[in-house]
Amino acid sequence: MDQSFFVKTYGCQMNQYDSEKIDELLVHNGFKKAKNLEVSDVAILNTCHIREKASEKFYSDLGRLSIFKKNKEKLGEKMQIVVMGCVAQAEGQEVIKRNKLVDYVVGPQNIQTIPKLLKIKSKAAIHTDFLCEQKFSSFPKSYLEGTSRQITIQEGCDKFCSFCVVPYTRGNEYSRSVEQIYAEAKNLVKNGALEINLLGQNVSSYKSYIFDKSKKKLVDLSKLCNILSSLPELKRIRYITSHPSDINDELILEHKNNKKLMPFLHLPVQSGSNKILKKMNRKHSKENYIDLIKKIKCEVTNMAFSSDFIVGYPGETDDDFQETLDLIDKIGFASSYSFKYSPRPGTPASLIKDRIDDSILDKRLNKIQSTLNEQQKNFNETSLGKEVDVLFTNLGKKNNQYVGRTPFLQPVHVFSSSNLVGKILKIKIERLTSFSFHGRILDS
Ligand code: SF4
Repeated sequence: MDQSFFVKTYGCQMNQYDSEKIDELLVHNGFKKAKNLEVSDVAILNTCHIREKASEKFYSDLGRLSIFKKNKEKLGEKMQIVVMGCVAQAEGQEVIKRNKLVDYVVGPQNIQTIPKLLKIKSKAAIHTDFLCEQKFSSFPKSYLEGTSRQITIQEGCDKFCSFCVVPYTRGNEYSRSVEQIYAEAKNLVKNGALEINLLGQNVSSYKSYIFDKSKKKLVDLSKLCNILSSLPELKRIRYITSHPSDINDELILEHKNNKKLMPFLHLPVQSGSNKILKKMNRKHSKENYIDLIKKIKCEVTNMAFSSDFIVGYPGETDDDFQETLDLIDKIGFASSYSFKYSPRPGTPASLIKDRIDDSILDKRLNKIQSTLNEQQKNFNETSLGKEVDVLFTNLGKKNNQYVGRTPFLQPVHVFSSSNLVGKILKIKIERLTSFSFHGRILDS
């Protein structure tokens, strides 16, 4: 009988992409999908190591899962537990030490080996080599249908921000070939995709080469977006996550000239204090960031921005924090993510002793979040009463309700008796509740 599997995903969109790929790879290899982890023959946890909370959640799920495994074994049934993703890469030995029932620990660039490992039923082992090229060439053509899809175009990072585990868990920067990405995009479009989100830990550093009339030509992110937009059925292109030092003039111009490239840029700044940015090894200053935003806004007048902020990095004083608030005030973000600093094992920052007191961390986080929420509300309110293009991707929670996204990624809810999924429609924005819009269809 076919073995069943279930993949639980923690963390970012790149993990979601890897989970989708392992799902397709296992189906391609004769496995069938189970309803949930507990009833599966192969339980796969695709882990995240970026913050303490995410990895603790994984360890607690793993503990719970091993009880199911033990119970199954008492009944003479089998369950294999695979731990993949960034925790697997960063602390594989620790995973096996903390839970003896784990069968395989597989790093993000070894996931292509999972079907083989399961079939040969080898002994419990850790597989954490950096095999990017092999990984991406092992995936079968996606059979999944969907309106908004993702493609990992780049993996790893060479920036080595002092707080970040990515350079250690995903390795050096690696860019997939243009041909491979184009073929994947073409297939997704054939399967109904109108929007593609290009993923990479440092996507703006994408670099590959093509041969044009026997001349070797560099393809950066701007050129790649240009090439992909030649697919007629593809209507929207996005990318995430960028580093401010890698946004070049060509990319800004591509945003200006390519209507398929959405006017929304997630550009993490992390802090508004130059002292802290230096300690973080961010390789840009507050002024660089502000100038870049000005330059982009000058060329692309409707561009909106989101960012990430780390609150309470070791050594952050009240004045440093105030500088971050001042920067937020100056830019005006459409939406943002903010987190309390948490030391990640293996990073240079984890060795710094002068941590900020928890009560101060909480206060600063509350302050930054209320400021960012206020800005998001202000930004959203500018859309009220306007007519905007919405790409519908899902059913809503209510009967006959559909959910879509504006070019700025704001969720929009609409009622309709006919199916809207897979359509881009003009919507009149009538109401804003919390952070989502409610609107009315103007055309169909
Ligand atoms: S640029 Fe991003 S992914 Fe790279 S080290 Fe810094 S925070 Fe991590």
